Amino acid sequence: MDNNSSGDAVKNAFVQFKDVQKSYDGEVLVVKGLNLDIAKGEFLTMLGPSGSGKSTCLMMLAGFEMPTHGEILLGGKSITNIAPHHRGIGMVFQNYALFPHMTIFENLAFPLEVRKMSSDQIKEKVSKALDMVRMGGFESRRPGQLSGGQAQRIAVARALVFEPELILMDEPLGALDKQLREQMQYEIKHIHESLGVTVVYVTHDQSEALTMSDRVAVFNDGIIQQLATPEVLYEEPKNAFVAQFIGENNKLEGKIKSQLENNLCEVELAGDQVVTALNVQNREVGAETSMSIRPERVVLNPQENQVDNMASGKIVESIYLGDHLRLNVRAFGEQEFVMKVPNATEHSSLVEGTDVGVGWRSEDCRALDPFIPI
Ligand code: ADP
Ligand code: MG
Repeated sequence: MDNNSSGDAVKNAFVQFKDVQKSYDGEVLVVKGLNLDIAKGEFLTMLGPSGSGKSTCLMMLAGFEMPTHGEILLGGKSITNIAPHHRGIGMVFQNYALFPHMTIFENLAFPLEVRKMSSDQIKEKVSKALDMVRMGGFESRRPGQLSGGQAQRIAVARALVFEPELILMDEPLGALDKQLREQMQYEIKHIHESLGVTVVYVTHDQSEALTMSDRVAVFNDGIIQQLATPEVLYEEPKNAFVAQFIGENNKLEGKIKSQLENNLCEVELAGDQVVTALNVQNREVGAETSMSIRPERVVLNPQENQVDNMASGKIVESIYLGDHLRLNVRAFGEQEFVMKVPNATEHSSLVEGTDVGVGWRSEDCRALDPFIPI
């Protein structure tokens, strides 16, 4: 997919939110001036904490809520006056129950009967959709006879069965246990890849978003904080909210002290220590900053030529996690660094209370705009 590494406008956008606002009570905006282009065939995830406006956006796209302001376009045409069932959109929600009194076959046949297909066509399409979610053979069961994972597979099949060009999913895996949820993430991702259908997916789970999506729109308080590929979100978060929300993060607060070459800067910490970082947003000297360093970029007991910044510290917590050891090291006074040490090194010596060094390269530490909640 081209033109997809950032939040830039997408060529030939299939779904477009244009300056969309939503208020339920006529006062508080829960979606604020949303502009978002989604390409045909894209898997786009709306990710954010509870109450950030994700479901409201999906409901407006589905047609169950109207924007207070702005417009939503599908295939270049405004859908403002098109009823939900005429938008040709497949939907899967966490609590979007199957009809309990119907068999699985009847549940899947329903959207096709509404579309007046012949019974031969219906049989063929139902069987194709069931195969897609690996539920062939379950036609005569009823929803009450299925496990949670199986029921959710059927819900996905029902959304796919009439071959819509757009599928909306709102926290569809929220009720499943971790292992099943992860398995279903891969399955939905593979279905998306094989069908090429456009998917708009809502979740509050960042690892789910990273696993499945072409691009992720990170929501907070009705505003997209950053729209980018999973890799860019993790490696190049634009502000402190995104850095904290996506993956694990070490946060260091300070003030920009001076600008250096190569977009680097000096930052003065609360305890007067000075460290170097990447001045991501060209923040001015004197500006407050919240620096972000990923745990895997913090180097334990570094050699001097390996890093640009070093401090001595003490291990305050050491947790064995099989493939790696997770350390919490206190340095610069009260500052705590989380770091991950791969399970190849000598572990037994890295116990609580041990004196260690921590360090990082300037370019692995990003000086960001501190996030100020509104
Ligand atoms: P998310 O899906 O990100 O958790 P929502 O879009 O459901 O967020 O909600 C955004 C805000 O809008 C929340 O403050 C929520 O309480 C409010 N809200 C959602 N739906 C309604 C509704 N039908 N009526 C009134 N307020 C609503
Ligand atoms: Mg929601």
